[in-house]
Amino acid sequence: MRFDIMTLFPDMFDRVFGESILGRAAEKGLLEMHCHQIREYTKNKQMQVDDYPYGGGMGMVMFPQPIADCFAAVCEQAGTRPHLIYMSPQGKTLTQQRARELAQMPNICILCGHYEGVDERVLDALVDEQISIGDYVLTGGEIPAMALVDCVSRMVPGVLADEVCFTEESHFAGLLEYPQYTRPFEWERRQVPEILVSGHHANIARWRRDQSLERTLRLRPDMLASAELTDKDKDYLEKLQAVDEVSE
Ligand code: SAH
Repeated sequence: MRFDIMTLFPDMFDRVFGESILGRAAEKGLLEMHCHQIREYTKNKQMQVDDYPYGGGMGMVMFPQPIADCFAAVCEQAGTRPHLIYMSPQGKTLTQQRARELAQMPNICILCGHYEGVDERVLDALVDEQISIGDYVLTGGEIPAMALVDCVSRMVPGVLADEVCFTEESHFAGLLEYPQYTRPFEWERRQVPEILVSGHHANIARWRRDQSLERTLRLRPDMLASAELTDKDKDYLEKLQAVDEVSE
């Protein structure tokens, strides 16, 4: 999978894409990341990429020409027109479901805004989709773009050692993940739940499922409405709710 990122701050991406799981995936050739400096495409004599907003007001707005030319160069280099995403607090909030769909695409290009944002006309002309990483505003689209690339990349086949790494995880099947433990068995007088050392795989699986259900009920009850639940799951949730009612 190939990502092209259009930004005024390409250096910000070096460490994030060069290390750990993403770095290894890039070395293996599973991911390709290319950052493009939008400023290199400006035809402005002072190398400017932004200007005052029409109508007045605070801040600067990135103007269309360098972005459009940068995207044309990306299309040429990639040999195709990638799906173009603009990171924006006005976009649809990123979900695991959307990230999973995006991981199927061979080419994605991400536009990072800065300052007050980007001239609306270039968005209308080029952008396929706007994505937000949450209901808050950052100074630029670089950190949101990193979050998006990271989240999509780990679902590209081969990037994680085993698909189970993400299919069992929080948000994948609409539930939060069960608690995880590693050695030592006892730490500061706290022990790992006995069942995890019982060696009984079916019981462990059921215990984990119940923990997932309980966490989701307590921490994110809103998620249960759309989760895929078996009859056993529903029985367990009913039991928990009955206990809650008694203790209330
Ligand atoms: N004036 C704009 C916000 C500009 S913030 C508005 O009110 O909508 C500057 C840039 O940061 C944006 O162009 C966008 O690319 C990025 N950005 C800020 N918050 C974001 C968020 N929650 N999700 C994704 N991108 C965001």
